[in-house]
Amino acid sequence: MSEVENKVVPVEGEEKDYVEDGKNKLIVKCKFCGSKILDKKSAKYMTLEKELPLMQQDNNRKEGEIQNEAVNEFYHVENMYTFENIGFTHTVANCKYLSCADCDAGPVGYYDMDTKHSYVAISRIVHA
Ligand SMILES: [Zn+2]
Repeated sequence: MSEVENKVVPVEGEEKDYVEDGKNKLIVKCKFCGSKILDKKSAKYMTLEKELPLMQQDNNRKEGEIQNEAVNEFYHVENMYTFENIGFTHTVANCKYLSCADCDAGPVGYYDMDTKHSYVAISRIVHA
């Protein structure tokens, strides 16, 4: 059985209650342990379609298979030192996946090794 997925596709220009002046209005935290990932207004809101591996892979999947989902909303972090806490996992192509520095939950986004910019998936964090 698959989990209920958040399939809301954002409309361009629509006001989000967690975005102010194009930035994250609230503190960004790990969904699982509450560790602080980003401070208020430290990252830019953007829409972009990117496939990320599911945080919880189905145990019945085929061996070696990775289940992905498309994520549409991100916080764009240009400088990795902007993060309060973040972990990096394995490298795939020219990306590293971001994970929670405290509980290793992830991927919560990805780091582009060419541009050195990071993208935090809004569907995978909580605001506080
Ligand atoms: Zn965590």
